[in-house]
Amino acid sequence: MEGLIDEFGRRFKTLRVSLINTCNLGCVYCTCGTEDLKDNLTISKAQGISAGDLSAIIKKLHRVLKLDTVRFTGGEPLLYHQLPEIIRSTRLLGIDNLKLTTNGLLLENQAAALAEAGLRSINISLDAIDEEVFYSVSRRHGINRILKGIDTAIDEGLEVKLNAVIMRGLNENQIIPLLKFAFERNIRIRFLEIMAMGHLFGKADEHFFSQDEILSEISKGYDFERLERKPCSTANYWKTTSGYTFGIVANETEPFCGDCDRLRLDSLGNIYGCLSSNSPVSVNHIHDDAALIDCLQAAMSQKQSLKFTGSNLSMLSIGG
Ligand code: SAM
Repeated sequence: MEGLIDEFGRRFKTLRVSLINTCNLGCVYCTCGTEDLKDNLTISKAQGISAGDLSAIIKKLHRVLKLDTVRFTGGEPLLYHQLPEIIRSTRLLGIDNLKLTTNGLLLENQAAALAEAGLRSINISLDAIDEEVFYSVSRRHGINRILKGIDTAIDEGLEVKLNAVIMRGLNENQIIPLLKFAFERNIRIRFLEIMAMGHLFGKADEHFFSQDEILSEISKGYDFERLERKPCSTANYWKTTSGYTFGIVANETEPFCGDCDRLRLDSLGNIYGCLSSNSPVSVNHIHDDAALIDCLQAAMSQKQSLKFTGSNLSMLSIGG
C-alpha cells in the first residue's frame, strides 16, 4: 500500500530501528551526564523483543511501505549481538540502503562483519577530538578506539560520516578540529543543534549552540558557500572554497519537518512517526496489513507540521 501519505505529501520511506536501549557512553544529551550512569538514566531499560520479532516487523513494514532506507541505531547498536544477522535479513528483503549510527567504540572489530552482511554506510557520533573534551561530553574515555574504528570502516569500503552535537560551554572549541579531522580523511561531517529531548525537555537552552553560531566558528578557519538542500534531508550543507563539504542539522533554527520521511521503530516493537511524540504505537503482534496500516496512520498523525516541539523520551530509547 503506497497510499499512506499525509496532507503535506509526506510518506514513510526511511525506517530507523533502535535495536537496544542501553549504551556504553553516558553522553550529556541522552543521560543526565554524571559519572554514575546507574543513578541517572532517564529511560526505561525494559528488555527488547527478540531479533526474530524485530526482523519480522521490518519485513511487515517494508511490505506495506516499500522502504528505501533502513538505519540501525540505539542505544548503542554495536552492543546488539545479532547486528550482522539483522542487517543480512533486511538486505534479503531487497533494501540496499542499509545504514548504521554508532559511537564507534566497538567498531574496529566489527566493521568487516558489518560490511560483509550488507551494511553500506556508517554515521559515527564524535563530539570531540580532544580526549578531555570527549570525556566531558560522554563520561567515558576512548577517542583512540573510535579513531581506529573510523579508519577500519573506511578500509572496509563503508561510507563513513561524522555527526557532532555542539553544546555551548562543552565542545564548541572542537568545531574546527573536527572539521580538520574530517577534511583530512575526505569524509563528510555534520554538526547538530542540541534538541530538547529526554532529561533536556524544557531545558536545552543552557547548552544550545545555533546553526549561525556554528557557521561563525567555521568562518574563522574557512570560506564557504551554501548548497541547495536535497528533499527529505536532515542537514543543510555548505562547500568550502577548497571543495570540502560540511553540514548542519538545525532542528531548532531551520526545522525540516515539512518533508520528513522517517518512521521510527524501537527495541520494544513500537513505532513513532515523530521525535516529538512520546506515544508509542505497538506493532509487535500485528499480523494483518489492514491493522498495520491503522497503526501507521496513527504514527503518521504524530508528525509535526512545522517544527520539533520536544519530548521527554530520550534518544537512547527512541533511537538517534
Ligand atoms: N549510540 C549511537 C551513537 O552514539 O551514535 C546511536 C544512538 S545515539 C542516541 C545517536 C545520536 O543522537 C547521538 O550521538 C547524538 O548525535 C544524537 N542525539 C541524542 N540526543 C540528542 C539531543 N538531545 N540533541 C541532539 N542530538 C542528540
